[in-house]
Amino acid sequence: MPSVFTKIIAREIPAHVVYEDDLVIAFLDISQATKGHTLVVSKSEVENVYGLSDELAGHLFRVAARLARAIQKAFSPAGLNVLNNNGAVAGQTVFHFHLHLLPRYEDDDVTLAFVNHMDDTGQEDYKERANLIKAALS
Ligand code: AMP
Repeated sequence: MPSVFTKIIAREIPAHVVYEDDLVIAFLDISQATKGHTLVVSKSEVENVYGLSDELAGHLFRVAARLARAIQKAFSPAGLNVLNNNGAVAGQTVFHFHLHLLPRYEDDDVTLAFVNHMDDTGQEDYKERANLIKAALS
């Protein structure tokens, strides 16, 4: 389904494009959650991670790694998150596959926190969850 990113790809709306090839485009996230925050976007209208072909997934991550190195060189962040949201409940707001490259600085105001549920997860739970994923792979 066409999205705001489709319009950027078609140059119908402006963006600060930093990289482009046949399969992907990368441009600055308009929010600039931190300095250099960049999106790596599939040119095809794939909504989320579930729809990526092996070829496209591999290419997106190759480009992301290359851009992460460029961001590291350009801004010398203290760290960098590679993030991808799938589904509204996971924080996805644009339903067109993209990776966030989010450079991190010591004094930034990003909040990303996972609660550790290790204490409420039994060995049987781990085994069952791992087995369900392994079974679904085959
Ligand atoms: P997500 O919430 O993971 O779907 O991320 C969507 C991202 O797209 C947000 O961080 C937005 O700031 C960003 N965004 C939305 N519209 C534009 C735009 N026109 N140009 C650049 N980034 C955009």
